[in-house]
Amino acid sequence: MREIIKLSASFKLDGEISEIFNLYKKIVNELLNHASTKNISSFKRLKKEKYYELRKKHFELPSHYIYTACQMACSIYKSFRKLKRRGKAKGDKPVFKRDVVMLDDHLFSLNLDDWIVSISTPNGRVKLKLLHGKYHERFKDWRVGQAWLIKKDDNMFLNVVFRKEVEIGMPIDVIGVDVNENNVTIAKSNGFERRVTREKNIRITYFLKRRRIQSKIKTGKKRKTLLSKYGRRETKRILDIYHKVANFVAEEALKTSSAIALENLKNIRKKIKYSRKMNGRLHRWSFRKLQFIIEYKARLNGVPIIYVNARGTSRTCPICGTKLSPNGQYRTMKCKRCGLIADRDIIGAWNIRLRGLKQIDVRSPVPRESPSMNLEGGRFAVAKVIKCPKSNSKPERVG
Ligand SMILES: [Zn+2]
Repeated sequence: MREIIKLSASFKLDGEISEIFNLYKKIVNELLNHASTKNISSFKRLKKEKYYELRKKHFELPSHYIYTACQMACSIYKSFRKLKRRGKAKGDKPVFKRDVVMLDDHLFSLNLDDWIVSISTPNGRVKLKLLHGKYHERFKDWRVGQAWLIKKDDNMFLNVVFRKEVEIGMPIDVIGVDVNENNVTIAKSNGFERRVTREKNIRITYFLKRRRIQSKIKTGKKRKTLLSKYGRRETKRILDIYHKVANFVAEEALKTSSAIALENLKNIRKKIKYSRKMNGRLHRWSFRKLQFIIEYKARLNGVPIIYVNARGTSRTCPICGTKLSPNGQYRTMKCKRCGLIADRDIIGAWNIRLRGLKQIDVRSPVPRESPSMNLEGGRFAVAKVIKCPKSNSKPERVG
């Protein structure tokens, strides 16, 4: 099975092309105006009605800029209309204010051997050096799609979408991945592993930091700068951890030719127990973000992803399907029927794996007896597993 994957990469540019941004903004806004007045959300129609007129008016501009401006205007108008329907849009029509220019393959070309981009402008082609990191080297053999030229403060960036076709392997096993506030636990056919993330501690630390700033500095630019500085730092620290965890999960899957099973977290709130004040957007964002990074690394390596129903994964006995009850100790659960005692994150990962196995119908050994533990941090002893009297009964949803 082959699949096309798309990844985007951001390059900082050495030098600038500033003359194009204002003109482009003007064109997109003219198109948005037209689209809102006539309620046009089809790219074809917008292009048909405005393309030649705008080309004539801006004859000095390479024509593909008008083309991409139509594409941008169209997608901006569509999302505006969607927001409007939900009552969340401001104003009667969208206004494009950002310094962003969309480029298609006629407007730029990349040379990743010399790290140079050549961009069409009203004054001919301009070549700029791409400042790159080691991360960018992987894209050398990828195909190039669209790109966006972005001006932020006094810097210029080029965001490029790369495409590659990868072979997705047929899995012979499944690993279950349970994403939690402070750790990621995975279940494999031969046991469990855990990576401690301490995300909750990091979030609380930054939350308190932000609150101190908010109470000390009531208004002004300094408050804003400080808040966004710590916000960025928090995001960076957490993303860094996510990438490490995701690499680990993808490697485990590759080693064992497994698919990765993740919980379908549409109803995500169940897992989050912060104070009401802290229970902000970020935390909902968080689990999905980590899953997204895992999915991305997996696809990059040709590992299939399965989403399973998240309901009751940490409350159902993976051996006999009975509803588990708390065992008194921190985060441990007990099965009254078969005697299983285990950490709830282990139970979660275990059930996710079982559900994943069901979905891809792989017959591989499912841990039914004392699973071996290999937990980073090693802070708890787990799982005295007593053999289940009805060991071949399927786990079923309880409660
Ligand atoms: Zn049980």
